[in-house]
Amino acid sequence: MRSVFYPRLINGPFGDPALYVHLAHRGQALLFDCGDLHALTGRELLKVRAVFISHGHIDHLVGFDTLLRTFLYRDLNLQLFGPAGIIDQLAGRLAGYTWNLTAGFSFVLTVREWRGERLEETVFRAQNGFAAEPQPGRDCDDGLLYETPFCSVRAVRLDHGDICSLAFTLEEPLHIAIHRDALERRGFRPGPWLARFKDLVLQQAPGETVVAVPLAAGGSAGVALAELAEEIASTERGMKVCYVTDAAPTAANLRKIVALATASHLLVIEAVFAHRDLPRARLRNHLTARLAGRLGRLAGATRLRIFHHSPRYLDRPQLLATEAQDAFSREPQDGP
Ligand SMILES: [Zn+2]
Ligand SMILES: [Zn+2]
Repeated sequence: MRSVFYPRLINGPFGDPALYVHLAHRGQALLFDCGDLHALTGRELLKVRAVFISHGHIDHLVGFDTLLRTFLYRDLNLQLFGPAGIIDQLAGRLAGYTWNLTAGFSFVLTVREWRGERLEETVFRAQNGFAAEPQPGRDCDDGLLYETPFCSVRAVRLDHGDICSLAFTLEEPLHIAIHRDALERRGFRPGPWLARFKDLVLQQAPGETVVAVPLAAGGSAGVALAELAEEIASTERGMKVCYVTDAAPTAANLRKIVALATASHLLVIEAVFAHRDLPRARLRNHLTARLAGRLGRLAGATRLRIFHHSPRYLDRPQLLATEAQDAFSREPQDGP
């Protein structure tokens, strides 16, 4: 399958959690967790349309100021999602600066916090000095936090000591593959129109909708959507990327992670400790590398990427990678 999501752990396996997902052909990106963001360029940051925060521990949220600093002068909206308490936490962060000169700025930050049943919402506008403006919010008992025609993000709540940490799955609703040979045969020139064509298919636009198709020979032709869908494209199950971090190794968490990550093309999952340090992992409410690998295997994930390693393994980085990979590829045994 040709990828539509390009996920990148920007700080490597030992750095602060931050998974930057570039959305192919959209010029947009999503960000899962907001640890140190200095590895991203301003250009990359400005592509971010929505940020999903697992929880408010500093290693997952310290990069918020970098985002804010980059977006402040722009005519852009940024959406941020997180667990219960995130609205107050960000209101506190915003209140830590002086905003007497931002009346003419148009940047708007919308923060939504998921409490299991409800998605509460507060808007913060630069022009109002980021004063909190609570909105009505909505019911959200299925965890579906974010939905566009080309991707959606769903969350589950995991126990992380006495707080909860959100795990997320990013899904493409339907994968539309373009047949390059068919394009050539018809003399169609590839380009941005293909993204528009895919959007029309995803939005289930009427088959007679006319799409302007640029021709290799020059000029363009109007072609009916149904004809294009029949001739140049085929559909399959969409791509699925799952992001799991800061989860206590409890039976309930493990069950929830397997359910969330089922049939992911990529599972990005924390592996903080080696399994021989399981007592410490329990104490610190984190997963081990072996558990991360087993969860990937039980979920039937195609690929596994581990991160959020404790610095205690800095001199043996392969230890966690090998342990996770062994558990991921081993034959099924008796559960995690
Ligand atoms: Zn953490
Ligand atoms: Zn944490």
